[in-house]
Amino acid sequence: MNSQRKPAVLAVVIPCYNEEEVLPETVKQLTELMQEMERDGLTDAGSAIWFVDDGSKDKTWELIEGYVVSNPYIRGLKLARNRGHQNALLAGLENATGDVLISIDADLQDDIQVIKTMIMEYHKGIDVVYGVRSVRELDTPFKRITAEGYYHLLKKMGVNIVFNHADFRLMSRRAIEALKAYEEVNLFLRGIIPTIGFPSSTVEYARAARFAGESKYPLKKMLALAADGITSFSAVPLRLIAALGFFIFLFSMGLSTWVFFVKVFTNHATPGWASSVLPMYLLGGIQLLSIGVLGEYVAKMYMETKKRPRYFIQEKI
Ligand code: UDP
Ligand code: MG
Repeated sequence: MNSQRKPAVLAVVIPCYNEEEVLPETVKQLTELMQEMERDGLTDAGSAIWFVDDGSKDKTWELIEGYVVSNPYIRGLKLARNRGHQNALLAGLENATGDVLISIDADLQDDIQVIKTMIMEYHKGIDVVYGVRSVRELDTPFKRITAEGYYHLLKKMGVNIVFNHADFRLMSRRAIEALKAYEEVNLFLRGIIPTIGFPSSTVEYARAARFAGESKYPLKKMLALAADGITSFSAVPLRLIAALGFFIFLFSMGLSTWVFFVKVFTNHATPGWASSVLPMYLLGGIQLLSIGVLGEYVAKMYMETKKRPRYFIQEKI
């Protein structure tokens, strides 16, 4: 491991979708932090904050254009249309220049002071630093329980994931170059990045509430991301179907044996409605379920084989 690294050119990458309400405060706080880090010798001149406008419908891009003129730290990327958080983030990571990149949300729910700790880790020779939420008291109980349950589920399914880490992380230049080699369309970055390797560490922080505007992650987008996390990394659901099928087969064999004995050795055998109709429903249900799960994977392959571009940059300023 290369131990002591020199101050590096930092790029902070921030995907933004309809964030006009939070941008002024975000720019103010981050600019102060950038100045402070440069003064303290943590980062080098040329460090910048890269806003990726993910096809916002409000004034987000106009604001960014204004900051690029008035604030030397601000850079902007504009996607040709809304492609979702993960794609916007990837666009920023692939196009921002710098020795070390840190991704963070526009609403500053993640503690920006932790950026300094991340940079210090980088100086020690670490390539990927994961920001991990230590407390979730500000999340609703529903969000907390579903999120933590989901992380456990992913672990159980063999997905290599950092517990309670979202997309607040530092990546070195060589980790970014490695990330560029991944071509998948169904992006679940927090599942991909641990598979890259290189020295990594975690830093903990308390997550704050969004200070303005509302969440751009409605339940529908959250469920889509959750499904991607499982089906893009794990074949366990497919194997569960096989196991289910196997046990039902065993059960049917047992049942048949029992029916055979009843018929041969007793005179209680009544040709029953239940025994013929219930299995029909049961098997019909299982088959549909199985086809559904298969369909999920087929759909994934369909999307992947197209190798469609994941985003287009309309402007870079
Ligand atoms: N975001 C984006 N494209 C989208 C949705 C969200 O770039 O289609 C950005 C958003 O601007 C923010 C980040 O993704 O910077 C996280 O979104 P948000 O804070 O609304 O999610 P939450 O914290 O509620 O999970
Ligand atoms: Mg947020």
